[in-house]
Amino acid sequence: MSVFAYRGERLFVEDVALVDIVSAVGSPCYIYSRRALTEAYQAFREALGAQRGLICYAVKANGNLALLAILADLGAGFDIVSQGELERVLAAGGDPKRVVFSGVGKTEGEMRRALEVGIRCFNVESMAELARLDAIACALHVRAPVSLRVNPDVDAKTHPYIATGLKENKFGIPLGEAVACYREQACYAHLSFVGMDCHIGSQLTDLGPFADALDRILPEFAGLRRAGVALTHVDVGGGLGVRYRDEQPPTVAAYVALLKDRLAAHGLSDQELVLEPGRALVASAGVLATRVEYIKETEARRFAIVDAGMNDLIRPALYGAWQGVTAACRRLGPVREYDIVGPVCESADVFGRGRRLAIEPGDILAIGEAGAYGFAMSSQYNARPRAAEVLVDGTEFHVVRRRETYEDLMRGECVVRAGGRS
Ligand SMILES: *Cc1c(COP(=O)(O)O)cnc(C)c1O
Repeated sequence: MSVFAYRGERLFVEDVALVDIVSAVGSPCYIYSRRALTEAYQAFREALGAQRGLICYAVKANGNLALLAILADLGAGFDIVSQGELERVLAAGGDPKRVVFSGVGKTEGEMRRALEVGIRCFNVESMAELARLDAIACALHVRAPVSLRVNPDVDAKTHPYIATGLKENKFGIPLGEAVACYREQACYAHLSFVGMDCHIGSQLTDLGPFADALDRILPEFAGLRRAGVALTHVDVGGGLGVRYRDEQPPTVAAYVALLKDRLAAHGLSDQELVLEPGRALVASAGVLATRVEYIKETEARRFAIVDAGMNDLIRPALYGAWQGVTAACRRLGPVREYDIVGPVCESADVFGRGRRLAIEPGDILAIGEAGAYGFAMSSQYNARPRAAEVLVDGTEFHVVRRRETYEDLMRGECVVRAGGRS
């Protein structure tokens, strides 16, 4: 059963009523469940079974230190895309030996820091990046572990903003070029080629594209092995979708079974399987709680104006994404259709249209599946301090990021008067 469930009239998160959290912490706030996160991770672990594998949580989905620490304690690795994410992982007690570094724009400083702490692998996305990494590793007198991110040119059949495996996307290296590079690796004295990876997109609800991508890259992987190029891991990226509304994403068990099946089909079951799930681990472990400030009826529509905005949760505005909206306390009052909108001065600031709810001003709503790409993509647009984040653990809850203050909003800024006096 979901950790988010009604008991009587009230919505609970594990064993705590959501309205009790909001009474203590204020609104809006993100609320995460330790149990939901733990169970999501264990589902991947169990699905791997005897297969050698490393689950590298994609930090960009939600980088809160408390969540990273839970995953680190469970033995997870991490997929990072910036030095900031690396610093978060280290601060949360993550093991650098279990960190893989993805992204098309790694700077020299980022490479240096990652080499200094000794990460597991760089997922390199271009020849120019490879040359830069070789030079920096040379200067530091180390060998940099490398996996080439290949672009398998498959259609992930997801939202175009989160499709990354087509040849017109900026991501990865064309397969042929990558294979040539593995064969000529002697040109790079300070790199060691340890794996091959791909990541074709996010919120995939069908196994087909994953299978297509693996059936393109694994024959090359096996061919390199026969030619004496000893790679030791296959990194399949992330991208497994979750159910926001009526999608039918594969289960974690079915997804991992497919990966193992494709490895076996290409004679590569002995390889270590690296996974980079983000959304599939955290989306359903979090909600965004928000208060109804006003109900506004116009000739055309009925609006519930809430105190969270697109700055707090941008997925609906950015991708037209659908997320569930439920009342934290059920009422007997009449059910009506509402457009759930925030206070931000943009017409895109809508969480949902025509939602059927029985609500009154002051009520608390929970926006579902908000654990991934929620807080992580939030901003201070409209000079709105970012929301608090709360972790529920059984009957207890803890503020794991305090609400930002107005001082936080202005930190680091100064005024320059005529003549340059500050
Ligand atoms: C975003 C990303 C992920 C995680 O994607 P999800 O859809 O959240 O699982 C994994 N790997 C890379 C390289 C990414 O860019």
